[in-house]
Amino acid sequence: MMRVEIDPHSGFCGGVIRAIGTAEQHLGKGGRLYSLGAIVHNEEELSRLEARGLVTIDTEDLREMRDGVDGEPLLIRAHGEPPQVYARARELGFRVIDCTCPVVLALQREIREAHRRMAPVEGQIVLFGKIGHPEVLGLVGQAEGDVTVVENVDQLRDRIADGTLRTYRDIELFSQTTMSPSGYMQIQQYLGARMAGAELTVHASICRQVASRHRELSEFARAHDVVVFVSGRDSSNGKVLCELCRGANIRTWHIGSAAQLRPEWFGPDDRVGVCGATSTPKWLLEEVAGAIKNLH
Ligand code: SF4
Repeated sequence: MMRVEIDPHSGFCGGVIRAIGTAEQHLGKGGRLYSLGAIVHNEEELSRLEARGLVTIDTEDLREMRDGVDGEPLLIRAHGEPPQVYARARELGFRVIDCTCPVVLALQREIREAHRRMAPVEGQIVLFGKIGHPEVLGLVGQAEGDVTVVENVDQLRDRIADGTLRTYRDIELFSQTTMSPSGYMQIQQYLGARMAGAELTVHASICRQVASRHRELSEFARAHDVVVFVSGRDSSNGKVLCELCRGANIRTWHIGSAAQLRPEWFGPDDRVGVCGATSTPKWLLEEVAGAIKNLH
């Protein structure tokens, strides 16, 4: 008989739980709540909150808005934002509700401090992260844009080769909070081996919840015959974690909702594991697990 188990460690991370809890508190009072960018990279959860009065706008909207918004609440999500976004929101008259995750806030502060340290020695800051990701934009904004962002070792090699990165000057290295620990290790080793008489300072900036989820998820994927990974299309953390599962278990399927399940993925005696990203709500994992049980 097929068995279906939900990964007990999957579900929202602390930062997302906090942001959604705050949004729900405000929505519970009635009225509108603006969110700058999707509060969570999950279409299903977003629709649930939008039905309750959440209005998602983007930085382009913020730039183009002309009139004051008269103290309307604007939520800054867990990823955080660069300083100029706060300034613009206040200029328009928004009441800012800052839900930047405390872990991201601490990293933003560290990058500001590193920027102050690197300026007098003509050193540089390198960030291992996804180019254009909102958290990365918020982090880069702390150093007035003076950060070299690399997504992998190939890009790091190119930045050294084209002279963007000067390995004969001090470098402070950070990672976006949701990157893979093994990817960060490769970046550290590659850069460390190429420093030419200058100092490399490595900051352990991957979120602990993400790092431990990487370990637990590989074990979970290995312990099941089939893995169903649930996450939104835009979740970069979802893509990374799904690949991790696939590395541990080739029979890994990535879906956004129960409607995408296919009966042919499952055998009658399979042990099926259902898991997700830091942006996947528990209720959605339960819905998917229920739908798998009903397939046979
Ligand atoms: S992954 Fe970690 S750092 Fe990022 S929002 Fe969640 S708890 Fe905060």
